[in-house]
Amino acid sequence: MKQDPSSRLELSGKEMQDFGYRVVDAVAEHFASQEEKNPVASGSRKEMEELFSETLPEDPTPANDVLDFVLKNVMPHTNIMSHPKSYSFVPGPSNYISVMSDTLATGFNIFSGGWVGSPAAATIEIVTINWLLKLFSFQVKKGGGIFTSGGSMANLTALATARKVKCGEDFSKAVIYLSDQAHSSNIKAINILGFRKEQVRIIPTDMEFKFSINKLKNAIARDKLEGLQPFCLIASSGTTNTGTIDPLDELASICKKENIWLHVDGAYGAAAILSKNGKKLLKGIEKADSLTVDPHKWLFQPYEIGCLLVQNHKWLKGTFSEKATYLRDIEGNKSEINFYDHGIELTRNFRALKFYMSVKTFGLKAFRNAIDYNIELTEQVEAELRQSTTWEVISPATLAIINFRYHPVGQKITDRKLDQINQRISAKVLASKEALLVTTMLQGQVVLRMCLINPRTTMEHVKSTLELCEKFARE
Ligand SMILES: *Cc1c(COP(=O)(O)O)cnc(C)c1O
Repeated sequence: MKQDPSSRLELSGKEMQDFGYRVVDAVAEHFASQEEKNPVASGSRKEMEELFSETLPEDPTPANDVLDFVLKNVMPHTNIMSHPKSYSFVPGPSNYISVMSDTLATGFNIFSGGWVGSPAAATIEIVTINWLLKLFSFQVKKGGGIFTSGGSMANLTALATARKVKCGEDFSKAVIYLSDQAHSSNIKAINILGFRKEQVRIIPTDMEFKFSINKLKNAIARDKLEGLQPFCLIASSGTTNTGTIDPLDELASICKKENIWLHVDGAYGAAAILSKNGKKLLKGIEKADSLTVDPHKWLFQPYEIGCLLVQNHKWLKGTFSEKATYLRDIEGNKSEINFYDHGIELTRNFRALKFYMSVKTFGLKAFRNAIDYNIELTEQVEAELRQSTTWEVISPATLAIINFRYHPVGQKITDRKLDQINQRISAKVLASKEALLVTTMLQGQVVLRMCLINPRTTMEHVKSTLELCEKFARE
């Protein structure tokens, strides 16, 4: 049978190298120069379609032309989440070692689903999960976990596991509790899993944005009196809005007493366990049944890598194992973990590699120092704001998040007007493209929110952004 060489989808050795070097050069150049670029991108649907809309290309284009087009048109229309002036959402500071590790994992197209796909990849996932179990004082021997695409998938995996362990097949009477500050991915997971609205209790938070314990206890007691089954509580260790850590110790003892699964969503803040004060702040986290950590946030990994840890690895296997005839030859023996049995995905990227290589390269100490720095910088920003006659701190520096608003001393401005001004400050900052700074709502007020987890963000960056904000406020 005759085969056209191009139909093998191959490049020559020289072509691969030349193309690869160009890609590496572009990435390295971006890392070196990102600070000089604007972090904010824009582009309407119409503008983007004009750039990119085309019919499926039947014929080839030279690889370098495709790359040129992408570098010219795609990258500039992308927010730079690792930019020192990217303050919004949860930034993605990333690191070059992990970026290259991802390239290796993809380059060798390593199948991380089952043991026989790559015994080394499976073992590195076990080893790195064990590092994390130990960090959070989970039981290393009995415990387990899995890397996921992100925090949302980790939360979904956790809730599916909690339901299986606590409810078995019948979850018609099961009730789940979370606070009004819990991340929306938890509600999404609850919906995906098929819980009805009546099975979800959203508990109000107190003035500090923490789970209101009294209201929680009332809700649990009432549900029990109605013959329902309180089965799962989702606590946040680091809410996305304010960085607030729920009272984990107290929640853990309620859960223990009531036989409720405690899931801690630490996608934003659990990484603070590495900091000087984090262990104190996160006390009780070790009592969670399951914990979401999100290395592509505050553990400085590029997208995508999330992580779920559980106290007993058998819970995952008991929830996700299905016997499939086409997988029978790769089941292996008991000591060999098939991660497809521990989560939702079968075919998986080798996500553990980047975490492994970056921690080995920089050393955990560098991660600790970076997180300490982030927390201290946020505290300094708070001190700076409190000294100013222009700014009002709405939620103090908490795990590298601070919320504030423009509210000059001595001027009578209505709340509605203040909301409008702060909304406009953010809109103008975005329009200037110089900083990514958006608002959130806290207790009915529009506030500016900064999340300072980038170790390359300095006080000078923040000050220049505040000056920009003040300039817009005066306009
Ligand atoms: C970011 C975040 C999530 C979602 O994680 P993704 O990686 O974006 O899917 C869940 N919970 C909290 C608290 C978060 O901050």
